[in-house]
Amino acid sequence: MLSFTHRQLPATIRFGAGCRHELKAILETRNLMRALVLTTPEQAHLGRSIADEIGPLCAGVFEGARMHTPMEVTRDTMALAQSVRADCLVAIGGGSTTGLGKAVSVRSGLPQFVIPTTYAGSEVTPVLGETENARKTTRRADAILPGLVLYDPELTYSLPASFTLTSAVNAMAHAAEALYAPDCTPIIRLMAYEAVGVMMRALPKLYAEPANAEARAEALYAAWLCGTCLGATTMGLHHKICHVLGGTFDLPHAPTHCIMLPHVLAYNKNAAPGAYADLALAMGTERPELAIYDMVLTQNGPVALSALGMTEHGIGEVITQLRASPYANPAPLDETRLRTMLANALAGRAPD
Ligand code: NAD
Repeated sequence: MLSFTHRQLPATIRFGAGCRHELKAILETRNLMRALVLTTPEQAHLGRSIADEIGPLCAGVFEGARMHTPMEVTRDTMALAQSVRADCLVAIGGGSTTGLGKAVSVRSGLPQFVIPTTYAGSEVTPVLGETENARKTTRRADAILPGLVLYDPELTYSLPASFTLTSAVNAMAHAAEALYAPDCTPIIRLMAYEAVGVMMRALPKLYAEPANAEARAEALYAAWLCGTCLGATTMGLHHKICHVLGGTFDLPHAPTHCIMLPHVLAYNKNAAPGAYADLALAMGTERPELAIYDMVLTQNGPVALSALGMTEHGIGEVITQLRASPYANPAPLDETRLRTMLANALAGRAPD
């Protein structure tokens, strides 16, 4: 019998090619006059261009965002925000930059605006993962959720082909795990279904033509839906594994998701037949895990954790951390099955 609690997260989403140019007017409307712009060293040019655009409303630019939100970077940014007397934060970049904005915002109370440039989806979640002493911890709080997101597909044209692929699979992992989450609702199920279908149809167009404006918009739209699924539900084994591999072994976020997703889908297949069937229907295939694995292989994307620097010695530690904190997952955590799955992912073999 249908029974659920659906909670809508309070955020404003603006979507459209060129909408990043609306930032100045948005800040003016809210009487914000000292924005601290955040980005990564690799996207410093983008940070500076948005700073130029808002002109006198920019109090400074911080170009040091790093993956997995290390605490020392957050501390440096907090100090800068204080010294330039920032009254708000503008994060322009991928999940790493968004994560830094969330970490500073939740500690300082500064309002945050996000202009995402990848498909990670962090901008629509009230979740923050932070790393200190090689341990990544995650927390969830309403105050973490950015208040306004400007989705401008033009900013994703520059995504390299390999990152387009891994970031898209990262996004689809949110939708896939939402489908079997204990707190999945009919709305989230619809979003997940739509997201996976749209993303899978956009990707071949992007492989053929990376700057295809329509396909870029579709992929970013799908990423928003996927992020919304992530923000609204409790993730399972896949996100937990990627969290450990990122936080403890410093593996890159999107490629790690890309490698693990087919394996975890296979692991949970029999325990969550409804979610598996939804995914299969959305993707137009009978074996979603193999379809994703084959697509990544064909596009020369990452399939082996060993290629990211992981070794066999780390598997025991991953399993220990997985079993240390109980969380929702359709299939029980069986040490032998986990070991086999991780060994396959390490070697780049197809999922069992
Ligand atoms: P990222 O933000 O680390 O970006 C990776 C690299 O790609 C960076 O050098 C970045 O500058 C560059 N880049 C980003 N967009 C680009 C573009 N359009 N063109 C060219 N280069 C671009 O990678 P990510 O996968 O977006 O984010 C990963 C981080 O986000 C991890 O720390 C992860 O934990 C976090 N995350 C958090 C949540 C959440 O809800 N809390 C959700 C998803 C991801």
